[in-house]
Amino acid sequence: MELEFYGAAREVTGSCHILRVNGRTVLLDCGMFQGRRVESDEKNRTLPIPVDEIDAVVLSHAHIDHSGRLPFLVSRGYDKTIWATPATRDLCAIMLADSAHIQEQDARFYAKRSKQAVFPLYSMREATRVLELMVGVPYGRTFDVVPGVRVTYVDAGHILGSASVVVDCSEKGSDRRLIFSADVGRYGLPIIRDPQPPSGGDIVLLESTYGDRDHPPIEDMRGALAKVVTETAARGGRVLIPAFAVGRTQEIIYDLHILAREKRIPPIPIYVDSPLAIDTTSVFELHPDLFDQTEDFVREVNELFRFDLVHYTRDVTESKALNSAQGPMIIIAASGMAEAGRIVHHLANGVSDPRNTVLIVGFQAEHTLGRRIVERQPMLRLLGEEQPLRAEVVVLNGYSAHADRTELARWLGDVRRTSPALGTVYLVHGEVSAQDALREQLSSDGYKVETPTPRTRVSF
Ligand SMILES: [Zn+2]
Repeated sequence: MELEFYGAAREVTGSCHILRVNGRTVLLDCGMFQGRRVESDEKNRTLPIPVDEIDAVVLSHAHIDHSGRLPFLVSRGYDKTIWATPATRDLCAIMLADSAHIQEQDARFYAKRSKQAVFPLYSMREATRVLELMVGVPYGRTFDVVPGVRVTYVDAGHILGSASVVVDCSEKGSDRRLIFSADVGRYGLPIIRDPQPPSGGDIVLLESTYGDRDHPPIEDMRGALAKVVTETAARGGRVLIPAFAVGRTQEIIYDLHILAREKRIPPIPIYVDSPLAIDTTSVFELHPDLFDQTEDFVREVNELFRFDLVHYTRDVTESKALNSAQGPMIIIAASGMAEAGRIVHHLANGVSDPRNTVLIVGFQAEHTLGRRIVERQPMLRLLGEEQPLRAEVVVLNGYSAHADRTELARWLGDVRRTSPALGTVYLVHGEVSAQDALREQLSSDGYKVETPTPRTRVSF
């Protein structure tokens, strides 16, 4: 049995690992590379291996950096099963369609600019085809992927439907369990349940996005959010929140709902300006069985994401009308790293006004607009124009959907307690500095840790 690291190796995006057992090949995730445009575009257009060598794909969750290249795979002729949890499948229906739309739009934009033909990475047709190949399996059920490979999903507590993947491999009389953490959530995140560390692993692939830092406690986040909203409203400004349509958006709405009920924020309008977020919120409402029933608000309130202050704007005209609207407000819009989508327009309209606040609630990868805002760069390039960043910038990392280094160590510690034969822990899905820090920490805790580069192959 062999594992080859490919995407999200010494970087965060492009999650994809190649598993070979009994002459069969399984991809764990098939995510999109994000970051510098030209570089990531080239990576996105290169398949890890010839498509006819791939026998199955096992998807951990719906985020585009894990699922976003599935339509490209299909465009190259892939027509076998793609496994996912049912909620991941539902979310992918929305997110891959949106991604296809963005690819088509980008291609048109760059074709116009370069006056050359630019082909989208994929189109809506391939995104739809992915869904036809996708089979949903709930947490805790074991299924056969290829001969000698059986998989079980367990809750990763990261976004709705997110899974850590337990892969039981048998080849030539030997059995090994590979545990792929995928993206591990925070303990105590609102709405969804806590991560469930799998047991009995021989090797582990562990994410390391925040391997070099701790987040503030989750309990403090709601108070910090109340403070940002109250102060900005007092200045007559807007709170602009770039947020992925899945997860962060619902958590923020959920917390604003609690704060509004407790009258801890002024009653200003909250605009969820994203058709994608509206659709994903509906998917949340389809899967209440996945909510964390230990949370009082989940048990007591039926409509978690609907209350009188919150408005969902689907229409472009409504979205544009927000530009000229008066008075304090909160606008939540995608994309999460402010690379595309309606948030870019709201930022272009708002970053130079010191009354406003840009509230960052998620991880911002290198070379993205969101990262430049976090770094408080004095000038930002927005929609082709330079603008001074005068708005206040607040970063609330506690809302991260990713475990911090202490939570990763806790998750791994739980795995080790139930894994007498635990061998190497391979760190994936992290920038170099975060991975190096986590490797050092885990090594001193007695783990054998490696940080594989792309194309590294290991036998196990
Ligand atoms: Zn994720």
